[in-house]
Amino acid sequence: NDESTQRAELLYYTLENTKAITRRYELMQELRTAIRNKELQVALQPKVNLITNEVIGFEALARWQRNDGSFVSPDEFIDLAETAGLISELDKLIFDKIMQSIQQFADQGFSLPIAFNASTFDLLSEDYFVEIAARIEEYGISPSLLELEVTETQAIFNYEKINACLCRFAGLGIKISIDDFGTGYSSLAHVSEIPAQNIKIDRCFVSNIQDSKSNQHIIEMIMLLAEKFGFEVTAEGIETKAEYAWLVEAGCSVGQGYYYAKPMFYDDALQWLKSRSN
Ligand code: C2E
Ligand code: MG
Ligand code: MG
Ligand code: MG
Repeated sequence: NDESTQRAELLYYTLENTKAITRRYELMQELRTAIRNKELQVALQPKVNLITNEVIGFEALARWQRNDGSFVSPDEFIDLAETAGLISELDKLIFDKIMQSIQQFADQGFSLPIAFNASTFDLLSEDYFVEIAARIEEYGISPSLLELEVTETQAIFNYEKINACLCRFAGLGIKISIDDFGTGYSSLAHVSEIPAQNIKIDRCFVSNIQDSKSNQHIIEMIMLLAEKFGFEVTAEGIETKAEYAWLVEAGCSVGQGYYYAKPMFYDDALQWLKSRSN
């Protein structure tokens, strides 16, 4: 009957909920330990000039493998780290690894910038800025080899404060990029004030672009806006030749995506670079 079905459903949801909370709690403890032991890794995804086919840099993406060998998706553990107040520690760890990768690439004769993702918690934290600036000094790496990515959604939240924070990083000589552009709710007035050089078109608009008139209009609008306000444009998530061809036709000249390469650990990224320069 209805009542017992309802009771069974309620029990089911309660159990599922408890399971989800337990998993989150366990993950949080494990993540804390993993960060402390510096166990997180960095995967590097190339950014490519679509016209000349030249590699113009990489984006660093955090990777976390649990003790049982499984990988947790960044969408899950980044959110967890933000909730648990661990994000700045995590991002400083990733930044350290990026500095090492830049040095290793340079030793191999590749002088390529690496972009890193920052959360608004990082940007608003005094300690994060101080540590990033100190690391750059310590490693003696040119800030022009660094790019900071912050999502549009995060950048427009509290945008006056965030803009001031971004200006400090720009002041160090670091390039600023607005990530996942088109999915937030920036007003045109805010966009014009963002202290960024680059905007990254979110991959949801790029996916099957050749078949979606409305996504085509959105990308065309973003490119026009970028031209008027003087931003460079990077297309995210290019997976197919058809998407690539449409973007080139539309005048987009930089992109990243599985069509070129998935994010790779350093050794594979180096092999990939070498195999292309032959
Ligand atoms: P994002 O910065 O927008 O990074 C792009 C995401 O798209 C990455 O997912 C990448 O692996 C994925 N991707 C790239 N090309 C393709 C493609 O052609 N097809 C498809 N389907 N996916 C593609 P990932 O690595 O899972 O990261 C998800 C998000 O987590 C990132 O989005 C970023 O916002 C955040 N994140 C990753 N690493 C870090 C980090 O070190 N610190 C912070 N604060 N956030 C990070
Ligand atoms: Mg990014
Ligand atoms: Mg993105
Ligand atoms: Mg994203």
